[in-house]
Amino acid sequence: MIMVTIAGIIKKVGTTTKVKTGAWRTFIPTVTDKCKGCKICESFCPDGCIKVNPKTKKAEIDYDFCKGCLICENECPFKAITSKMEDK
Ligand code: SF4
Ligand code: SF4
Repeated sequence: MIMVTIAGIIKKVGTTTKVKTGAWRTFIPTVTDKCKGCKICESFCPDGCIKVNPKTKKAEIDYDFCKGCLICENECPFKAITSKMEDK
């Protein structure tokens, strides 16, 4: 018999949405005009801080909470997110 142990279930993303990023972020992403509003970045952001605005149909980043991991940039199928070093 095969036994499978379930270690845990993540019900909500973004516990860090309660903690502002502060000044330590190294990279900062920017959504460009190429955004198609597909929401793929939303589903990958570990902090739940990029959302497609239902009015503009473009992704918007809440920089108070974005950690600069650039997962959104890597996962966007339209290459609509660019990044640069954060100005310190
Ligand atoms: S994955 Fe890219 S195209 Fe899709 S909503 Fe996000 S930024 Fe826009
Ligand atoms: S850089 Fe990371 S934390 Fe910031 S919006 Fe993209 S996926 Fe989310």
